[in-house]
Amino acid sequence: MSQTRHRIRKPSRTSVFIGITALALGITATASAGISGRSHSAAGPVGATSAEALLAPCRISGAMGVQMSEGLPTAPGYSRSTGEVRALNLMIDFPDAKGEGTAADRLAEFFPQTSDWFRTSSYGRLTYRAEAPIKNWLRMPMPFAAYGIERGSAYEPGYRQLVEHIIKTSDAEVDFSRYDLINILVTPNAGPSALDTVLSVTFSGNGEAPMADGVPLANTSFVYSRQDDGSGTYRETGYRVLPHENGHVFGLPDLYTADGGGTVGHWDIMSEDWGANNDLLGWHKWKLGWLDSNQISCAGKSGVSDHVLSPLAVEGGTKLAFIPVSESAGYAVEVRTRAGNDEAVCKPGVLIYKVDSEVDTGRGPVTVSDSSGASGGCTRRSNVHAELSDAPFRPGETFTDEKSGISVSVVGELRNGSYQVRVTRP
Ligand SMILES: [Zn+2]
Repeated sequence: MSQTRHRIRKPSRTSVFIGITALALGITATASAGISGRSHSAAGPVGATSAEALLAPCRISGAMGVQMSEGLPTAPGYSRSTGEVRALNLMIDFPDAKGEGTAADRLAEFFPQTSDWFRTSSYGRLTYRAEAPIKNWLRMPMPFAAYGIERGSAYEPGYRQLVEHIIKTSDAEVDFSRYDLINILVTPNAGPSALDTVLSVTFSGNGEAPMADGVPLANTSFVYSRQDDGSGTYRETGYRVLPHENGHVFGLPDLYTADGGGTVGHWDIMSEDWGANNDLLGWHKWKLGWLDSNQISCAGKSGVSDHVLSPLAVEGGTKLAFIPVSESAGYAVEVRTRAGNDEAVCKPGVLIYKVDSEVDTGRGPVTVSDSSGASGGCTRRSNVHAELSDAPFRPGETFTDEKSGISVSVVGELRNGSYQVRVTRP
């Protein structure tokens, strides 16, 4: 059993971004956007409220050269993540991998769960409209093998050719300009099993993608095979690769590293999307516009400050305390409970993690602090990183960062389910 878990946790999806293309082609639009994103003064318009001004030190931002950063604000070019988001779904197959079952069945592996997942996680702020104007498999002109697609394949040349073929075969029936993002749901029999390697990938913020109906197909997720671990839960949890891939479309980086999910565990779908459902970190919800400024408590000044945080899964209230340690990094503090999308939480409490906007996607931009060291964790759910499952801090426990002199103590749990935390910083 543990061997199976190891095998399926290890494959990692790769996200390739305009950063790579821009560097290769000498295009600087995204890079310059990244530079302007560094300026804290850009956080709000002139005349911003004092609440916004208090948040300024907590809007950490990354340096240029980071392809996909945790920093605020998210670089331009990605799909918007609030309001009505229209997703075009195209189910494709190949002459050497003809569609298994119907295209409608393939679509139904991901919907309505994906739309529901975003509604729940965003507190209703993202209305995900999934459309599939072409009901049948869209047959590509070349065999799957001819595109040369492997795990980690770059956009050039295989994906560019595939996207060109997708446009060619569908454009008569699809108005691409109507959509914010595109999901290419590939027939599961094209390519290897997800138990062997995960091909699913997203190309986001890619303004150099082929054009159709006057727009580049800039934010496109490709989903392959089935993330079925054999535990019999595929129908409930197999869709979760799609919200993960769409997270990239909205500008979120990968939180797993080459070593797997050991830095964030099951506390964010950008870390682990196999197995039991889980939510996004509060930091990501702020980044996506699902939390208001008045739901963030910024501990930017020296001294002691108290913060009352309501569970992340419940709508309303203060969700996130943030303690900046530099212009580009800081500690986030939030309350995680078994509710909403967080169905596998086995130890509710205060989750504390470091966010570093200068660490790139897949390199560990977020690191969760484990309150209980090498305990082995509290979960036995398959595909949930066990060690960090009991990471949350309980009342009476204190997290300390010796280097920065910052400490976070959990004062207590209130009757309404909120937690009071005390931040001390030099
Ligand atoms: Zn990813």
